[in-house]
Amino acid sequence: AENKTLVGAGLHNKDDHINLEDHERGGGVIKVPEGIEACIGNTPLFKIKSLSEGTGCDILAKAEFLNGGGGGPKDRVALSIIDLAEEQGLLKPYSGDTIYEGTVGSTGISLATVCRARGYLAYICMPSDQATEKSDLLQKLGAVVERVPPAPIIDPMHFVNRARTLATEHTADPNRLGRGYFANQFENEANWQAHHNGTGPEIFHQCGGEIDAFVAGAGTGGTLAGVARYMKSRLSEVRIVLADPQGSGLYNWVKYGVMFDTKEKEGTRRRSQVDTIVEGIGINRVTANFEAGRELIDDAFKVDDEQALAMARWLVEKDGIFVGSSSAVNCVAAVKTARDLGPGHRIITILCDSGTRHISKFWAIAGNIGGKTDSRLEDIIGPNNTS
Ligand code: PMP
Repeated sequence: AENKTLVGAGLHNKDDHINLEDHERGGGVIKVPEGIEACIGNTPLFKIKSLSEGTGCDILAKAEFLNGGGGGPKDRVALSIIDLAEEQGLLKPYSGDTIYEGTVGSTGISLATVCRARGYLAYICMPSDQATEKSDLLQKLGAVVERVPPAPIIDPMHFVNRARTLATEHTADPNRLGRGYFANQFENEANWQAHHNGTGPEIFHQCGGEIDAFVAGAGTGGTLAGVARYMKSRLSEVRIVLADPQGSGLYNWVKYGVMFDTKEKEGTRRRSQVDTIVEGIGINRVTANFEAGRELIDDAFKVDDEQALAMARWLVEKDGIFVGSSSAVNCVAAVKTARDLGPGHRIITILCDSGTRHISKFWAIAGNIGGKTDSRLEDIIGPNNTS
């Protein structure tokens, strides 16, 4: 008999495919998701073959760029934040309520999508130095976009402060429809909880509980904290590793309890803008979502821009995986973790967003990929983990 299979939402592994003959006999009924928000989560986990072969470890990636909402790493968080605010009676669909957020892009795209699906307006403040395809996409989704100049967090025009102020003004204005709600992804604990209740258990299940290390960067810190809290509750031995881009202060915060970049001298004024071409991870302040997982982090690796660019190119060239800069940073740190642990371990990392969101900036620098070369991982990482 012909072996026909049917692949549906949430069915990502070969074993999950439904045999059509069974299906015709009444078995294997697919539950159709109710709306686009129901397609968020249950992302695939797959082996990155080239990195696994190159290290002798299993390096597995959770493909968050395949989320079904806005199609990115923040879909789960947007849904979690809105669900919580609705439960608390702070948001009511189709009432003119507007969600304000300060974001470098991903959270805005996810919020704008879930807002449309749920009957809210989205007002997104983002720094003007971020890739334009993100603000273009936000406008296509019907969000209002305000691009603000890059500024330190103490500045009222910093994108986060600007969003908070606008939400407060909206609520205070009796002439405006609905209320303003500040999503506050950096401090709102619905963020890490989305990963504690979704990403973490999914990975655990997909791995049959066999995990040696989890490696991820931190923007808000929600992914790292949520997954770490879940994994450590199930596996006390699991190693949690921070992947930190150049210019970010988190590496030193984890390693030495001080918040300044390695390239800066102690005592110099701390830069509040992270000096890297990587978007989405790396920060120079400690947020509630990072603190939620801080104690669980066992190790950290610094990844410079050259390594991120080389890894992004490598993943396309060797595996056909086209991702953004934060995913590349995660993969470099996953390889460094594999080197540390030695062959035979299983390391999980996150592929955050697709390279399509980074064409005009990161990928403009990374360039086009030619034929397959005989480059080796040592060419990216160096002969040991010191670089
Ligand atoms: N990658 C990208 C592209 C992102 O936009 C973000 C979130 N800013 C992250 C990774 C990091 O996720 P988190 O905020 O959970 O630390």
